[in-house]
Amino acid sequence: MVMSLELDYPNPHKKGEIFFKLPVLRILGPGPCNASMSVLSAMLYQPLAPSNKDYWKMNEDIQKMLRYVYQTENPLTLVTQTSGNGGNEAMVTNLADPGETIVVAVAGVWGAKVADMGRRYNLKVIELRVEDGEVYTFKELEEQIIKHKPVALFITQGDTSGGTLQPLEGLGDICHKHNCLLAVDAVVTIGAVPLFVDRWKIDAVCGGSQKGLGAPAGMSLLSFSPLAQFFILKKMLEKKHPPPYIFDILSLADVWNCFGKPIKYHYTYGTPMLAAVRQALEEICEEGVENVWERTRLATDLFISKLDKLGMKHFVEKPENRLPGVVCAVLPEGVSWRIVLERLIEQHSIDISFGIGPTANKAVRIGFLAQNAKSTVVEFFAEALEEAINYCREYCRVNGVPDDESLLAL
Ligand SMILES: *Cc1c(COP(=O)(O)O)cnc(C)c1O
Repeated sequence: MVMSLELDYPNPHKKGEIFFKLPVLRILGPGPCNASMSVLSAMLYQPLAPSNKDYWKMNEDIQKMLRYVYQTENPLTLVTQTSGNGGNEAMVTNLADPGETIVVAVAGVWGAKVADMGRRYNLKVIELRVEDGEVYTFKELEEQIIKHKPVALFITQGDTSGGTLQPLEGLGDICHKHNCLLAVDAVVTIGAVPLFVDRWKIDAVCGGSQKGLGAPAGMSLLSFSPLAQFFILKKMLEKKHPPPYIFDILSLADVWNCFGKPIKYHYTYGTPMLAAVRQALEEICEEGVENVWERTRLATDLFISKLDKLGMKHFVEKPENRLPGVVCAVLPEGVSWRIVLERLIEQHSIDISFGIGPTANKAVRIGFLAQNAKSTVVEFFAEALEEAINYCREYCRVNGVPDDESLLAL
């Protein structure tokens, strides 16, 4: 019998009808942020096959620059093709085995997701909570480590849902004293905030591509200490539960030539995205990572200094707890975040975010990350925000204050 080529469903495409043009925006949320023109241009090459030597060379470049940005000599440093959450999941599933205990120091939605990942993988998850605007003291973390004897402590360096910056220097020593690994979510902080992976004795770290790094979303940048590497190897030899295929760090280590073994295929990377990551790293290297940290801090401080005049305040009360690069800011009384966000987009082509987790319906989230961490961008944004707030006041005077509710379930 001849197969009929008659379709069950009609082709939706009519020339000129399915047509969609994305807007050009200034993206000042907590990430993604704008990618520079050179990062965007880097993606315009044809994809490379996993067997291509130029692809290997590109990975070598990425790895070298990533070690510098992380301030580490870890051989096991690589990029995985997954978003920030996926990178966190790779850390969870490679460092711990089902039945083992991990402590997750939750500071907002991201840590809560890490705890969720651990439970899905049948880990025993101890989920710590901290008050809004506060960070963990090393004393309370050490108490929890002593009490629960976890294989690893997971902690978020910069939490974009609550706007806090967790200090990490010295925490590695505390963890190691109790045979516990230290794993850090640096999805937003990579390239934005000082992070010394070796000096601070961090055993696993995950950075995202779309925040401090300034590339599009979809890649996560991982590094594991020799101690973590030993743990992962030991686990493999003891033949316990393997991590999911896609997140298998030992296989990915061979894709990235971490141990000088023949290069292996594990899955096909979207090389245009790797090229974007490579370019973003190169821009950080060109400027000097410490200068990028400083530029980010200065831009953030400049914006914070303008909050008063805008009738706003920082959601995080203590200045020392505030995350550089992302400001969670409380709008003036009676001003609707929904109207302000809509006005910023429609009138100024600026995209910022509403609150989630700790800041849900309490603050808006504004990012000055990567190339947006500049005083000119801050000045431009502050003016636009003032206009949007005034617009909102007038709108509310005429129409009443709308009932703000979250637009996106998380
Ligand atoms: C954005 C973010 C994530 C999640 O990253 P995705 O790329 O959306 O998966 C995780 N942790 C932190 C701290 C983040 O800011």
